[in-house]
Amino acid sequence: MSWQGNQRDAAARVEFVTIRTSAEAVPCPEPGCAAPAGTTCTNLLTGDPLGYLPAHDKRIKEARG
Ligand SMILES: [Zn+2]
Repeated sequence: MSWQGNQRDAAARVEFVTIRTSAEAVPCPEPGCAAPAGTTCTNLLTGDPLGYLPAHDKRIKEARG
């Protein structure tokens, strides 16, 4: 993996955390998830904390107002 690749991956991780942090400021409106503010969304298929997205799309949109 190249240095540039590592830098890009690091930037993507920072963006992921930034989006997750802002999304988790509001409760999740996704039916079946409904994660309270300050908690991570649940993957509705596995029951594990959401890993492939920072939060459900509706929650990200809600947080952006
Ligand atoms: Zn959610």
